[in-house]
Amino acid sequence: MEQLQRATFDEFKSHVRGDVVLPGDANYDEVRQIWNAMVDRKPAAIVRCTSRDDVVQAVRFARRHELLVSVRGGGHNIAGNAACDDGLMIDLSLMKRVEVDAKARRATVEPGCVLADLDAATQAHGLATPLGINSTTGVAGLTLGGGFGWLSRTYGMTVDNLLSAEVVTADGGLAHASELENADLFWGLRGGGGNFGIVTSFEFHLHPVGPDVLSGLIVFPFDQAKAVLTQFARFTETMPDELNVWMVTRKAPPLPFLPEQVHGKEIVALALCYAGDPTAGEKLIEPLRSFGKAYGEHVGVQPYTAWQQAFDPLLTRGARNYWKSHNFVRLSDDAIDTIIEYAGRLPSPLCEIFIGTIGGQTARVAADAMAYSSRDANYVMNVHGRWETAAEDGRCIAWAREFFARSQPFASGGAYINFLTQDEGERIEFAYGAMYGRLVELKKKYDPGNFFRMNQNIKPD
Ligand SMILES: Cc1cc2nc3c(=O)[nH]c(=O)nc-3n(C[C@H](O)[C@H](O)[C@H](O)COP(=O)(O)OP(=O)(O)OC[C@H]3O[C@@H](n4cnc5c(N)ncnc54)[C@H](O)[C@@H]3O)c2cc1C
Repeated sequence: MEQLQRATFDEFKSHVRGDVVLPGDANYDEVRQIWNAMVDRKPAAIVRCTSRDDVVQAVRFARRHELLVSVRGGGHNIAGNAACDDGLMIDLSLMKRVEVDAKARRATVEPGCVLADLDAATQAHGLATPLGINSTTGVAGLTLGGGFGWLSRTYGMTVDNLLSAEVVTADGGLAHASELENADLFWGLRGGGGNFGIVTSFEFHLHPVGPDVLSGLIVFPFDQAKAVLTQFARFTETMPDELNVWMVTRKAPPLPFLPEQVHGKEIVALALCYAGDPTAGEKLIEPLRSFGKAYGEHVGVQPYTAWQQAFDPLLTRGARNYWKSHNFVRLSDDAIDTIIEYAGRLPSPLCEIFIGTIGGQTARVAADAMAYSSRDANYVMNVHGRWETAAEDGRCIAWAREFFARSQPFASGGAYINFLTQDEGERIEFAYGAMYGRLVELKKKYDPGNFFRMNQNIKPD
């Protein structure tokens, strides 16, 4: 059996330009690894695609041999769907070309790019499209699930800026999707995850941003959490679209602007970014400083690309991660009290609770315009369970689940599929809400055999 497999994969190698990595190869363990160390899967083979044609060949090969397929973009997905056991892992991470047409304000992006690749290419022209807040995240997975970050209140979700996509479909064919071509597929790709095919090229609309932006952190003691969170909740309801402020509560990392005795203590941090003229931004952020008596702050004008990387040191790969997430229309007093209660008993120094603020432009798109439909979500809370050793699994997972359950009564409908863990299959229908039926019909049309099922799966039957 093992020999037959080897021979079959050897034959496959002759059909692709990229490498095919097999168990036992020197780089097998490195290439199969993904961001979340909780997920440790061993594919039968990993094809490291270098072109669209490689992807087509990979899909046809997997079909012919009835192999389970997983697709890896940036490999950041918390559920670990980029890797599979005993199947074919289609690794796109070497496909990193970005072409920017500055005049037309468009970027064409290959699916192996991480956010830093796209930001670097677009910022060379003073342009950007809304992406996430950790620069090592994959553009592909982030986009296909919706995508939000510092620029989303001003310019919308990442999917709101997607103009077209090139897709390798479940039958190994090619399709283009845009408002004008295969509009139903385009509707599904914008939030429907990897359910409908493998995107080999994304085309994004770009906006003038920076290249310097006013951004940074203001850090408060945890015993002021109630006052800080309450004022954060009210302030973010009325702030202008160009301003974004997120809240993170965790144990203080050893940030140089914080006194040493604060390192390792619980804190409440406000992270902010102003996408307009920094002088105007300075006036707008002034009230944040009076939310409490801060331990310290590090706020200033810096390159947008630097701010996009500010959280990278806290989010490196290799740790164990288990996340839970709710959407909120409004942060009620009860929600705030529950956040403070659980932030007061973080089970590991790496765990955190963060509230990403969206709203603004993200809320001005019709809920049925595309598969991503949580247009009423003004806040996305991530219960970010993160720790280092398997011995801590039980304690940390229990904390995340308990807090998730306790905060559920204050949450709104829908959920962000890019934050769902691998044991949340039953939440997929809830996450899509009223769009779910339409997504099932689309899945029946584009992937009736559920060939693409290593994802937040929309079942065709
Ligand atoms: C540290 C961290 C920070 C994050 N911050 C943010 C944030 O600020 N904003 C935000 O919106 N999200 C954020 N996320 C969530 C992120 O959007 C998802 O984890 C996303 O799935 C990552 O995409 P990826 O390509 O890296 O993942 P992968 O694990 O490679 O892929 C994710 C899923 O998409 C599928 N897929 C990947 N590429 C393709 C493709 N080309 N065609 C079809 N299907 C494909 C995969 O099969 C898999 O099911 C964050 C995640 C992490 C781990």
